[in-house]
Amino acid sequence: MDIVRLRGTGVSPGIAMGEALLPRRVVFTSRKEAISAAQVEDEMRRLRRAVDRTRADLVRIKENIREKTGRENAFIFDAHLMILEDPALVSGIESAIREEMVRAEWALSKTNTRYEQLFESFADDYFRQRKSDVSDVLTRVYRNLEAGRGKEESPARLHILVAHELLPSEAALRLSKKLTLGIALDMGGQTSHTAILARSLSVPAVLGLRDVTRSVREGDFVIVDGSDGEIIINPPPAVRREYQAKKEKYEAYGRELKKTAKLKSVTLDGVRFTPMANIELPEEVPMAVSLGAEGVGLFRSEFIYLQRETLPSEDEHFEVYSKIARGAHPHPVTIRTLDIGGEKSLPRLNIEKEPNPALGLRGVRFSLRNKGLFRIQLRAILRASERKNVRVLVPMVTEVEEIAEFKDLFEEVKADLRREGKGFDETIPVGVMIEVPAAAALTDLFLKEVDFLSIGTNDLIQYFLAVDRSNEPVSYLYKPLHPAVLRLIRSVLLAARKAGKDAAVCGEMAADPLAAIVLLGFGLRTFSMNPIFIPRVKKALRSVESKAAERIVEEMMKLGSAREIEEYVIEEILVRHPDVFLTGPVSEAGPKT
Ligand code: PEP
Ligand code: MG
Repeated sequence: MDIVRLRGTGVSPGIAMGEALLPRRVVFTSRKEAISAAQVEDEMRRLRRAVDRTRADLVRIKENIREKTGRENAFIFDAHLMILEDPALVSGIESAIREEMVRAEWALSKTNTRYEQLFESFADDYFRQRKSDVSDVLTRVYRNLEAGRGKEESPARLHILVAHELLPSEAALRLSKKLTLGIALDMGGQTSHTAILARSLSVPAVLGLRDVTRSVREGDFVIVDGSDGEIIINPPPAVRREYQAKKEKYEAYGRELKKTAKLKSVTLDGVRFTPMANIELPEEVPMAVSLGAEGVGLFRSEFIYLQRETLPSEDEHFEVYSKIARGAHPHPVTIRTLDIGGEKSLPRLNIEKEPNPALGLRGVRFSLRNKGLFRIQLRAILRASERKNVRVLVPMVTEVEEIAEFKDLFEEVKADLRREGKGFDETIPVGVMIEVPAAAALTDLFLKEVDFLSIGTNDLIQYFLAVDRSNEPVSYLYKPLHPAVLRLIRSVLLAARKAGKDAAVCGEMAADPLAAIVLLGFGLRTFSMNPIFIPRVKKALRSVESKAAERIVEEMMKLGSAREIEEYVIEEILVRHPDVFLTGPVSEAGPKT
């Protein structure tokens, strides 16, 4: 048999191997079946019955999942119940039946296509992927049009799930049964529900494989390498053995990381540091805490907007922020105000196409231009601050005037809440992101105005080095260890220390163990990152002496290139602390810094 390898996006690390299972897909009809006027009421009844059955299914599955895997995974079904209860959805199908006099199947099929086209037209990847939630609900209703057809197929054997697209509820259900060892899908990416769920349940997954369903047949032996984003179909015994060894190594590594998550966050010479999580959904908080996060260093609030079809209300904002604040309590939670614009577009906000979005109306610039929208968000953040563990963080600031304008607005919003008798934390800390070189140069002045800083190295490096790292021909120039970048970051951290104020790094640089040691040497104590990288960074920081890191960076700063710096630091660290870098599949799949 030929061995076939396919590359996709590794969204949940680890290795899984086993027999492929390809679930049958529900195919919406392409036949427009007409009915008579007398049959319209019958079709409406069929539709309503299917909606009722779907509601009952969703409630049942939700309970089931909650019992088996905990509350955080049941949230998908709350979202689905909300979609099902959305009057616009069902009434749209009803009017198609009534006005076009067609069978419910056709009306559902048409509605599904309409939503698919709508979601696909959105530029934002995350938002585009939400189409599967609506599709999921409509598929269930479709199945339920015929009594007895709503039943899920339930494979009784361990398997690798291979499918075109996995509806979120299907993913939750299948994963909860613990029979799915790994997942390989044609569709999907890092931010799809399946990805989030697979990560939180530690099931290796590779998505976005494009035509895996055509390459794999039921019963084929499949290896899913979620760390390297690859799947291998029908490998010969030698390759199986190779991956079995990789799997064991990964699992041993995982056990080591889990142990690390519970250990104290102190360096070898007793200096305390704080690992924190960058999150995009409140549901990520429990996993982040279990991986050792001591708070949320960055909540990217734009995801609240990206998840909805309409603009979120104040209460919807409030619910999300409260959930995060509750989940992370007593640790602090840093809510970043809307950072839309740049590469993160949002069709509903009608942002005009800009010739150069990275240099355009993004972050706080957008919010200050849209104060009505900004007030709603600020009211909700304040209302969620009653537990006194919420901080507010403003993105893309480039001048002192923006901070002043923000603070004026914030004070007005506070005054409104006081007038309305609504409680909030009167001492809520305000911080700014340092992600534009101008902000880095003005750190001392900014610090007179704010309580803390968070250095967003993702943007700071791209603006400082004039390199878009997603642009292939120049991406090799994107170097976090570039001496100019290091000088800049050091100056920011120095200014914060002088002012006696907190500074964190929340860009991906903080997730790289080597870079984290350099930052420790510069005096950084708060490292915020994608939670899955916390254990390896914690392990690295626990293995070094901060005094040694300080001495190493002092020497390092005399070097003139990123390559020399990297070589020098690795050598110096390894001489003193040979076990500092846990080499394992997760670190290989980590962010490239
Ligand atoms: C950053 O720029 O480093 C950052 C953390 O913000 P984002 O990645 O959301 O732009
Ligand atoms: Mg940024």
